[in-house]
Amino acid sequence: MKLLRAVELSKRFDGQHVVRGISFDLEAGEILAIIGPSGSGKTTTLRLIAGFERPDHGEVWFEARKLSGPGRHVPPESRGIGFVFQDYALFPHLTVLGNVTFGLKGLSARERRRRAEEVLDLVGLTLFARRYPHELSGGQQQRVALARALAPKPKLILLDEPFSSLDAGLRESTREEVRSILKQTGTGAIMVTHDQEEALSFADRIAVIREGRLEQVGRPEEVYHHPATPFVARFLGNTNLVRGLAHGRFADTPLGTLPLDKEAWGHVLLSLRPEHLELLPPDSRGLKGQIVKRSFKGHDLTFKVRTEHGTYRVQTGYRAPWQVGESVVIRVREVAVVLGEKLDESGSAEIPVEAGPPTHREG
Ligand code: ADP
Ligand code: MG
Repeated sequence: MKLLRAVELSKRFDGQHVVRGISFDLEAGEILAIIGPSGSGKTTTLRLIAGFERPDHGEVWFEARKLSGPGRHVPPESRGIGFVFQDYALFPHLTVLGNVTFGLKGLSARERRRRAEEVLDLVGLTLFARRYPHELSGGQQQRVALARALAPKPKLILLDEPFSSLDAGLRESTREEVRSILKQTGTGAIMVTHDQEEALSFADRIAVIREGRLEQVGRPEEVYHHPATPFVARFLGNTNLVRGLAHGRFADTPLGTLPLDKEAWGHVLLSLRPEHLELLPPDSRGLKGQIVKRSFKGHDLTFKVRTEHGTYRVQTGYRAPWQVGESVVIRVREVAVVLGEKLDESGSAEIPVEAGPPTHREG
């Protein structure tokens, strides 16, 4: 049996559709990341599952129990689901131990205390049990919020941008700890984030949301290497969008005849990640161009190469010798990904859409 099923969830605010027919499910112990730009409906989706909002349409099932649906709305506190919000919302007047014990019901005082100590040990905060929230770092507060959510042993917890107020270094280590705690306890989780790297490294599966609709759900590698739409391709990283004329497993493009990740016919839009292209000396066979930008990133180099068929982004090893102004040839090292977008005849103009970084990474 699935742990959770969201079926055709829809929600409107002031007549405006914020969540439009979202369906997905979750296995026991599975971690799903919902990723999308700011305002795309991520928090609303999580609130619908938590029960803080009622769907206009659709259902939420938790194992064999219907939580939301026509004529039914189980209140949040009776759903058996844990939450960790963006701002942690710890009680400032309670100690760490007090915060964690707070949500434990139906146990004796002694059992509550034992359970709280157990989860504080799990998140590595045993020594901080008597402190107050303001005496803790951001990362420690985050772990208290997690301990509080885990204390009643829920099978599912919901996390809304849980790491966004931590600085980069702490964010990565806290993320790894939280993931290992969830896996260790077999707790399923749905995490909302706008950070693609966070989603790719934290989750077992990723759901990409855009304007209240799910564009693609799949394993991180699947969604990254085989994006279904131009939006998904660009939201999860840089890419070159290239038009081509497909004939089965190959397509003719400005970069030559390329193998495709799936069969396609006619005018297609293809995605080629910058790290799937390479640069060769100018006397090589292939599409010729000139380096117009070189960005050193430490572990790699990214070049912008202008050609008579548009500008391409190419990521190479950190030793690549090319400098701005030099002539090069671009070669493709991987199969091209066919994006699920219908192009009409006018789409045959072979101009790659220049792929900039996603313009929608905040909040
Ligand atoms: P995200 O978490 O992806 O940034 P949200 O789910 O918070 O997006 O919001 C999606 C849209 O719904 C936004 O335009 C937001 O202003 C609107 N919205 C969210 N909650 C409410 C509410 N309670 N009343 C009215 N509009 C809301
Ligand atoms: Mg949000």
